[in-house]
Amino acid sequence: MTTFRNPDKNGYYGEFGGAFVPEMLYPNVAELQEKYIQIIESKEFQIEFQDLLKNYVGRATPLYFAKNLSEKFQTQVYLKREDLNHTGAHKINNALGQALLAKKLGKKRIIAETGAGQHGVATATACALLGLECIVYMGEIDIARQAPNVGRMKLLGATIIPATSGSKTLKDAVNEALRDWINNASTTHYIIGSVVGPHPFPDLVARFQSVISEEIKWQLNEKIGRENPDYVIACVGGGSNAAGTFYHFVDEADVKIIAAEAGGFGVESGKSAATTYLGTTGVLHGSKSLVMQTDDGQVIEPHSISAGLDYPGIGPFHANLYTQKRAEFYSITDDEALKSAFEFTKLEGIIPALETAHALTILEKKTFKKEDVVVICLSGRGDKDLETYLNNF
Ligand SMILES: *Cc1c(COP(=O)(O)O)cnc(C)c1O
Repeated sequence: MTTFRNPDKNGYYGEFGGAFVPEMLYPNVAELQEKYIQIIESKEFQIEFQDLLKNYVGRATPLYFAKNLSEKFQTQVYLKREDLNHTGAHKINNALGQALLAKKLGKKRIIAETGAGQHGVATATACALLGLECIVYMGEIDIARQAPNVGRMKLLGATIIPATSGSKTLKDAVNEALRDWINNASTTHYIIGSVVGPHPFPDLVARFQSVISEEIKWQLNEKIGRENPDYVIACVGGGSNAAGTFYHFVDEADVKIIAAEAGGFGVESGKSAATTYLGTTGVLHGSKSLVMQTDDGQVIEPHSISAGLDYPGIGPFHANLYTQKRAEFYSITDDEALKSAFEFTKLEGIIPALETAHALTILEKKTFKKEDVVVICLSGRGDKDLETYLNNF
């Protein structure tokens, strides 16, 4: 039986996924493919991981009934508070899981890529805790514009290596990290920050983030006596908070799924990151998915006001949901996201991450019924976006 949740044994979600890697990475990727499920489902791993999620990350995160928001939009809105996690977003769920996995694989050196620095901070945090060496690749331009997170990573003991090729941003940092991995395959684990990359990374990251929907189920049951909401909503950059939010619902036909992508200046403006709208099938960073590319396969520079959504692809899990019409995708512009962030902050007393503000904008775009139960993943907090917010206030 095909499911939306699980890829086949070669890592395909429908026509998307797989592992397109240079020969020198075969042994590492094959080792991961062979061992990941067995390790992460082992009792020993789960005891350690669950203890860290509870006592270090601060899980379970609340599922909060947003009364003011519900009143304004005349529906029942619940917020899954990933912003309350240690380091301020969902990314720590995956970084800690993969760092623990690396230890079990006997790897002592960790590499990661980062755009805004959020995944870099989460990875540096996990490495500090678990005593692993941490090297973070970051575009030269991003290093200049994300100084606070660069500082945090340094304090946490990470080494930051600037990516100086191409546009000197996230996709170039991924390329540099992959190059490092090829050269140091036997000692090093690459902690990818979203549900992208060669199989098994999309499934591995989705499994670590699936705790989000696992908690939503029992929390909703506690509050309203049923496990399934009518809608789940999340923003999609690579798609990890969305995959975690959708995971336990994608194969439940009664739950409708909505994803919010970054429309940037508008989908037709040439400055956008709306991959389902603009993308075509291609291979990016080791897997087949929807990619923003020219006719001859050159990756098009994405744009979004939120660094976390500024990526020219989406994970294969989401490409499949989109083409199979299992999920509805909306593109939200920079201006719409800013406006939602400001209104939401005053209404609920929570400053959301700019990425998250794209998901919140769905409430403006779609009319829900009064009795609909709508769960939105509040993927992260807005401290990191304060400067952007104040410049646009
Ligand atoms: C990184 C980030 C995102 C986007 O990444 P996904 O893998 O698509 O979840 C969304 N929200 C926040 C707060 C982030 O830090």
